[in-house]
Amino acid sequence: MQRMSGEAAASMVQVWRWTLSFMKPYRRQLLLQLTLGVLLTACEMMVPKSLELFIDHVIPERNWSYFAGLLAAMAVMVALMLGMRAYRNLIERELREKAASDVQLALFRKLRELGFSYYEKHSTGDSLSLMNTEVSAMQTIYQRHWPELVRCSLYVLVIAVMLAILHAPLLLWTLPWAGLYAICGPLLERRSMLGVLRMTEERVAYGQSVYDSISAQAELRAHGRLNWDRQRVLQDLERYLRSWRRMTVPLWLRGVPRRIVVYGSALTMFAYGAVLVRDGFLSVGEFVAFALYYMIMIFNLTLVITIMTEIRVLMSQAGKLYRLAEQKAELTEAEHPVKLPAVKGHLAFDCVSFRYPSGKADIVRAFKLDVRPGEKVALVGESGGGKSTILKLLGRFYDPTEGRILLDGVDYKELSLRQIRESIGFVFQETYLFGTTIRDNIRFVKPDATDAEVAAAAKAAYLHTFIEGLPQGYETEVGERGYRLSGGQKQRIAIARMFLKNAAVIVLDEATSALDNHSEQEVVQALEALMREKTIVTVAHRLTTVRHYDRIVVLERGMAVEAGGFDELLRRRGALYRLVEGRADGSG
Ligand code: ADP
Ligand code: MG
Repeated sequence: MQRMSGEAAASMVQVWRWTLSFMKPYRRQLLLQLTLGVLLTACEMMVPKSLELFIDHVIPERNWSYFAGLLAAMAVMVALMLGMRAYRNLIERELREKAASDVQLALFRKLRELGFSYYEKHSTGDSLSLMNTEVSAMQTIYQRHWPELVRCSLYVLVIAVMLAILHAPLLLWTLPWAGLYAICGPLLERRSMLGVLRMTEERVAYGQSVYDSISAQAELRAHGRLNWDRQRVLQDLERYLRSWRRMTVPLWLRGVPRRIVVYGSALTMFAYGAVLVRDGFLSVGEFVAFALYYMIMIFNLTLVITIMTEIRVLMSQAGKLYRLAEQKAELTEAEHPVKLPAVKGHLAFDCVSFRYPSGKADIVRAFKLDVRPGEKVALVGESGGGKSTILKLLGRFYDPTEGRILLDGVDYKELSLRQIRESIGFVFQETYLFGTTIRDNIRFVKPDATDAEVAAAAKAAYLHTFIEGLPQGYETEVGERGYRLSGGQKQRIAIARMFLKNAAVIVLDEATSALDNHSEQEVVQALEALMREKTIVTVAHRLTTVRHYDRIVVLERGMAVEAGGFDELLRRRGALYRLVEGRADGSG
């Protein structure tokens, strides 16, 4: 890892604080864990002490009643230890599992809260990797590193006290060795940890390309590109295997410096201790106890250093999550939102300008539009003109950079997101079907709808007869792994959802442009039924489908350049006329 600058180090502290904050709700358990840990360690430390007493008193004095007492005390101690250890494991388990699942939930909520703009910026793969790789890195901190760190540090602390009481100078002897390890150990440890992380990343990338390859079978076969795909997947596999091979030596060497330090320091301690015994500074029993304590301590001390190194590497993963958690949602909800009793569906764009957070130029510029309840308005214009962007503003996926959008005369920012989303129904160019029954796919916009309501919505969308004809009727599974619906059928499902949702405003974004002529006719029929009593804002690619709309608005580079009835605009021979002429080759 690179040397950290001051600023990065400061943010590391924040990441630490954030990571630890997930344990805050479990303060009581933590305290209990620590207390039990101290008690347990103290009990365990009695074993070398008993040995010392055995060697120094029982053997020379042949004091067998003393021995019996010693044995009894040790038996009690062992029983106590077994009980405490079982209890501590229980607490630890609960603690780590809760903290780990809290992290998962918190980030999932955050991803939700960040909303649409986040998903437009990041790929599904990115978000999934965040939820899997990075979150699991953080979870190992709670699940493995934290309990081990507590355990090892307690050993070190308690034993250091015992050793200091036994013979302080001998304790000082250990310091240079521990220092040596603190300097050299992390070098190799860090390398292997980073390598392991790299390996995980390569494995994720490989998994992603296998996923791509499976999803794209139709394209790959249609274009005769199976070989190209195989090459690509094999390359990723090779990269993964290479990162794996590169790890062999570091992983193999991983424990070596630690063992060198543990045994090397034990050797020197033995030599020095022997001198002390010979010269009468230590009894044999004391020396044996000391040697045992010492071995336990140096072992745990090096382990603490190793764990700290691992945690630091994992923290760089946690850092990614921290930055995500720190991101502010771009939309803020009104604290006391205005509640419209009944939404009439009067929409107004009041001089709205908009620029994407990542963008350099305004995509929508000084856009004014007033749509009366029940009016049907179509937005048309060249692709890239900002039509879909206007619809995103209409759904309040984004807030305008300037100007206001009003529903029934109230600024969007004063309404609850919930009311806005309930008042506006969307049909997009493609409709996503969940992998569940067709009934639930329609019902998802209104989870408490009865079967009869669902059937009524399907009838209105000209779907009922078709669904009845399916093998399991409304219970037929659809979506990726179920019955495949055609594009037209999917769009009609979306329309059925709109009937069920019964929103005052319906927004259509090229709802029929992916369809062939025949399916389009069916969908248009369903749409006309939907349009009768709603406010409609449509983005249409095929201009013929919006002929009969009340108003056509022509957009050019985010500006409304023309508005009026279809025939009126054609007669004016302006922007719409040029648009129609430009598409006279049949697409219009
Ligand atoms: P239309 O629907 O009229 O074809 P869009 O509203 O989809 O046009 O896009 C208008 C412009 O905004 C395009 O230049 C597009 O590249 C840009 N754009 C769309 N979405 C984003 C986004 N999430 N971030 C940045 N720029 C975007
Ligand atoms: Mg578009």
